[in-house]
Amino acid sequence: MELGHDGAVDRTTCLIGGGGPAGIMLGLLLARAGIDVTVVEKHGDFLRDFRGDTVHASTLRLLDELGLGERFAEIPHTDLSDYRLPIDDHRTIVLGDFSKIGKPYDHIAMAPQWDLLSMLADAARSEPNFRLIMNTATLGPVVDSGRVIGARVRLRDGTEQVLRADLTVACEGRDSPLRDGAGLTPKEYRVPYDVWWFRLSRTAAERRAQQPTLMPKISHPDILLTMAHQDYYQLAYLAPTGSADRLRAEGIDSFRRRIAKLRPDLADRLDELRSMAELPLLQVKLNRLRRWHRPGLLCIGDAAHAMSPSGGVGVNLAIQDAVAAARVLAPILSEGRTPTGDDLDRVRRRRLFPTVFLQTGQRVLHKTIYEPAMAGHRGGFELFVIMMRLLPWMSIPLGRLIAIGPGAEHAPDFARPAVDVAGSDRSITGTDHDGHR
Ligand SMILES: Cc1cc2nc3c(=O)[nH]c(=O)nc-3n(C[C@H](O)[C@H](O)[C@H](O)COP(=O)(O)OP(=O)(O)OC[C@H]3O[C@@H](n4cnc5c(N)ncnc54)[C@H](O)[C@@H]3O)c2cc1C
Repeated sequence: MELGHDGAVDRTTCLIGGGGPAGIMLGLLLARAGIDVTVVEKHGDFLRDFRGDTVHASTLRLLDELGLGERFAEIPHTDLSDYRLPIDDHRTIVLGDFSKIGKPYDHIAMAPQWDLLSMLADAARSEPNFRLIMNTATLGPVVDSGRVIGARVRLRDGTEQVLRADLTVACEGRDSPLRDGAGLTPKEYRVPYDVWWFRLSRTAAERRAQQPTLMPKISHPDILLTMAHQDYYQLAYLAPTGSADRLRAEGIDSFRRRIAKLRPDLADRLDELRSMAELPLLQVKLNRLRRWHRPGLLCIGDAAHAMSPSGGVGVNLAIQDAVAAARVLAPILSEGRTPTGDDLDRVRRRRLFPTVFLQTGQRVLHKTIYEPAMAGHRGGFELFVIMMRLLPWMSIPLGRLIAIGPGAEHAPDFARPAVDVAGSDRSITGTDHDGHR
């Protein structure tokens, strides 16, 4: 579907900027509520490798509730029954134990995010009122008499167009033009590291060896996370904020030596890293908007609260925001009403506690583990290890917190497959099976 140059498709009920986890999930849910929805995504596909690949237990449950569990099971993925931290070269300690959560959601799945997004987009495309327009970027909101009435977008061919909407939702992640253009500025929290994000190949023997899926390595001051996918390793080298120019100047050989020191077993394939220029550097942000809306505009996911990779919870949080937004707004939009400021703020109120809780957890991890480790101090890390050894049962509530998270959302009735709701024709109310709002 293309946008027409002469306004062929220039109006929609809900315009969503950004086809990441928040945007695609919101588009799917609203489309299932029968609402005319248009998602614009600036890239031509979902094939970018800087996204988290964790699919949490609460998202797995949500996929089942949406009737998409079987389709997700077809995506090649590995299951993680716990998060571990290395104590030394040979021993690890369990930080979060997912195995006690209760079947079938007793794990986190590691699946390439582009496969998950493609699957959700395919499901959404089967709804007649859903449009996903790729290669189209939001440039900023269009405001009329103080109200956001849509967005300026740049089309695939470089031309610009205005797309009007009753409601515009900013889901473009950390650098949202819709949010910035509406004058919403998040409060920034200090993050001690940036991430060099790259892949190395995984041999057939390593695949057979049943290695743990997540392999963190801390050799003060270096921190490396290795995530084992079926055919490759995704690596994240955490470098102190502001050290990028120095690392680039030191060159690729020096970088390879750093990685070889942390993972000698991978030294034989470090020539796969060809130059510093080819290594993606991801700047990590942790921030939050005080107000998530302006009249006619709502921000969710990283656009409202950018998450750091610590604990790997941002994708799940973004998806949960989308479910909350759909639950609150679908009944209003489907009646042809325009959401009021209070309606939009209900989404923030519903999601504030989980967001603040998880961001506070990330800030504590940054302060007590990452920052001291990068400064060459083991103190905070060792204290943490002692605590986990003295109180090993802590890994169970921590596991639940990571895998399910606080305030986990269930699929609203209107988004569930008709067969799942006895006698239902997906009636659009904000209540779920249990009558909760
Ligand atoms: C290095 C790193 C690793 C991470 N690892 C994990 C992890 O393992 N697990 C986890 O849960 N979280 C992880 N996170 C956090 C997670 O990536 C985010 O919290 C999550 O992706 C937010 O989802 P979102 O949909 O709000 O935004 P995004 O995932 O950022 O999606 C935004 C989408 O909007 C598109 N877009 C951007 N600008 C425009 C525009 N102008 N117009 C149209 N489209 C646009 C983008 O292409 C993208 O598709 C990580 C973060 C970082 C920085």
